[in-house]
Amino acid sequence: MIVDALGRRFRNLRVSLTAACNYACTYCVPDGKRLQAATHELSADELVYAVRLLVDAAGIEKLRITGGEPLLSPKFDEFLPRVMDLGLSDVSITTNGQLIQRKADVLLNSNVRRINVSLDTLDPADFRNIARSGDLATVLAGIEMLRAAGLKIKINMVPMRTRNADQIMPMLNYCLEQGFELRFIELMNMGHLRHNNQYQVDFFGMEEILEIIGGAYEFTRTDAPYDSTAVRYEIPGAGNFGIIANESEPFCSSCTRLRLSSNGFLYGCLSNTANHDIKPILQMPEHHAIAQLQSSLVRALGDKQDLSFKGEVTVMKFIGG
Ligand code: SAM
Repeated sequence: MIVDALGRRFRNLRVSLTAACNYACTYCVPDGKRLQAATHELSADELVYAVRLLVDAAGIEKLRITGGEPLLSPKFDEFLPRVMDLGLSDVSITTNGQLIQRKADVLLNSNVRRINVSLDTLDPADFRNIARSGDLATVLAGIEMLRAAGLKIKINMVPMRTRNADQIMPMLNYCLEQGFELRFIELMNMGHLRHNNQYQVDFFGMEEILEIIGGAYEFTRTDAPYDSTAVRYEIPGAGNFGIIANESEPFCSSCTRLRLSSNGFLYGCLSNTANHDIKPILQMPEHHAIAQLQSSLVRALGDKQDLSFKGEVTVMKFIGG
C-alpha cells in the first residue's frame, strides 16, 4: 500500500466514463458546448480492467462513476454491472439525473444503492440558464423513481451568488421532505473560472450558507467519516445536510481520492494539472500492469495539496467531477 507523509492513501476512485455531457453548466463547461467527449476515450473493457488493477495496486475500496455525464455513455450499461461484481465496499454514481428514467432497467437491475444527483435549483427557468440544457421536471421524476425504488439519494447543489443563492432554502426543504441529504458544494476555482472574476463574484461560502439555514432551523455539526469531503450537520427531527467546503474548511490533508479520466489519465488532485497516462499499462497482463502502476500511483499521491485547494485550470468534466 502506498502511503504519504500525511498518512494519506488512495481509497476512493472516481472513474469518468466519458467527458461528454448533455448539459453545459455555466461554471463547468467553458464554451457552452455540449456532448463533447475527450479524444481516445477508453472502452468499457479497458475501464473495468483499470478499476480491477487499481483495486489491487492502490487498495481502492470505493468507486464513484462519474463524467461528463455517465448515464449518457453507451459504456454505462456494461460498466456498471461489471464493477458491481468486483467486491468493492461501495459503488455509487454521480449524475445530472436527466437520463435516470431512460436508464431505469440498468440502474435498478444493478443493485447499486447510492446515487448523487446534481441539481442547482428548483426553478425551471434558472435550471435552463445554469445547465444550458435539460429539463427540471424530467430530473425530478427520475429522482422520484429512485426514491420509490429505495435508493439512498444525495443531491449536490453548487450555490452561486448571482445564480441560485435564493434556492438554498427551497432546495433544503425539498430534500428534507423527501429524505435526501443535500450537499452544498462550494464553487471551486477551476477551469475557465480561473481566467475571469466570475468565481469571486459567485462564490457563496459555508458561513453564508449556514447563516441562511440558521434563520429557519436549529442545527448541530454531526459525524462524518474521517476522509469525508463534507462537513455534515443534523437538523434534529428533520434530517441532515452537508457542505463540501473546499475553501472554507479544506479537506486536503485527509483526501483519499484518485481520479481516472475517460481517456486513461490518473489525477491525484483536483488542484493540480499533473496527470499520469496509464493507457499503455492497460495493454499489459495483470501481474506486469500492477507492478507498472505503482510508480504512477506514487507520483499521483505526490500531486496532492497538503493543506488547501488552490484551484486549477483543469475542467471538472474532463477529469471526472
Ligand atoms: N454530470 C454529472 C453530474 O452533473 O453530476 C457528473 C459530472 S459533474 C462534473 C460532477 C459535479 O461537479 C457536479 O455536482 C457539478 O456541480 C460539480 N462541479 C463542476 N464544476 C464545479 C465547480 N467549478 N465547482 C464546484 N462544483 C463543480
